[in-house]
Amino acid sequence: MKLRILLVNPWIYDVAAANLWSRPLGLLKVAECLSVYDVELSLIDCTDSFRGVGWGRGKYPKHPVAKPDCLKPIPRTFGRYGIAVDAFRKGLREKGPFDLVFITSLMSYWYPGIQAAIGIIREEYGNIPVVLGGIYATLWERHASENSGADFIYKGPAGEEIKFIFNTFGYRLKEIRGPVPYRRLGLYTDYPFAPLLTGTGCPFSCAYCASSVLQKKFARRETSEVVQEIRELYDSGVKDFAFYDDALLFDSERHIKPILKEIVGAGLVARFHCPNGLHARFVDDDLAGLMKASGFKTIRLGLETVNPERQKQSGGKITSGDLEHAVQVLKRRGFAKEEVGVYLMYGLPGQGLGEVKEGIHFLESLGVRIHLTEFSPIPGTEYWRVLEEKGIVGEYTDPLLTNNSVFSYLFSGYDPREIERLKLGVKQYNIT
Ligand code: SF4
Repeated sequence: MKLRILLVNPWIYDVAAANLWSRPLGLLKVAECLSVYDVELSLIDCTDSFRGVGWGRGKYPKHPVAKPDCLKPIPRTFGRYGIAVDAFRKGLREKGPFDLVFITSLMSYWYPGIQAAIGIIREEYGNIPVVLGGIYATLWERHASENSGADFIYKGPAGEEIKFIFNTFGYRLKEIRGPVPYRRLGLYTDYPFAPLLTGTGCPFSCAYCASSVLQKKFARRETSEVVQEIRELYDSGVKDFAFYDDALLFDSERHIKPILKEIVGAGLVARFHCPNGLHARFVDDDLAGLMKASGFKTIRLGLETVNPERQKQSGGKITSGDLEHAVQVLKRRGFAKEEVGVYLMYGLPGQGLGEVKEGIHFLESLGVRIHLTEFSPIPGTEYWRVLEEKGIVGEYTDPLLTNNSVFSYLFSGYDPREIERLKLGVKQYNIT
């Protein structure tokens, strides 16, 4: 009899959440790794419920839940985002029983979603082995092993090492074929959009970013493989694609440009979105033209700050001049303000609000959308160490406090009313 494996993407627990073409790509990679064995795979994605707001984006249903004590000072409603608890239970009963469960984790501060999912799995199936992987499991291994309820914490990216998990639980499995792409495994029935990952990791190492902590190596897929994936999904009806790479534009001559040339050459009429910040430094006229011709609709560039000293000290990925040049070429190639947005951070260690306001004025002068993002500290990064030295974070910090909305409210030192005024000003600017 085949080993029956359940894959679970748990709920989001937060004060705000929206679906920007998101799917649990790490968990789907696990499915691909498991597909080489003679196993039966099922998936329950607790976030697979949203009301579409256009081009594949969506709003999750929110179910208010009691706020954990450490979040009591935050004047926002805490909630569970995604499917109803009853729907999860029903899915477990209909798809089960199972021999093994793999559950993933994305944002570390969403761990109550993991606890809730594992708790219900235990109610339904008792002591079934549960393996937890993903971002929270990798960055907060000790916290995860003490608090998640999982039996096994898997650190790092999904790969062949997954077979050791079988040994741990006493299963001996034989490989029967090569890995099957997740889109052919029938895990999702509905494809309103498709996230894409053409590579993992990043050649930069920014002081606030977890990329190099989570992925030690920068690696890329063959361009032909990426194009085949896009064509196959397109032929099955997908029209909205979202690139989730950390460094999509790096070495563009050998990577993204060939991919886009093939898309344009094949005459695909699709929309492409980049919810992760792109490297503005690598946007040249040729690339901007290809992005326009292939159907890019959502471009997000990462600036984070206009302070030249901080730009340099935090990793040197960009200067304000790089951004200005990128915006000029994108506009010359026909992109409008609504299509080009720039991420600007606030709450970075030692960052005053004056710097944030300067950044807003700079972006307004360029005529791009502004996306204000709150800094969130991540273990293993340079800025975590800075905050650790100041005694603000440490080994026993509750990951809930690293939630971007929560951390900036509690620790940035800004007047919350002033932040609200800034956000409102940006919102009004973005819609004019
Ligand atoms: S360039 Fe972007 S993805 Fe790379 S380390 Fe910096 S912030 Fe992270």
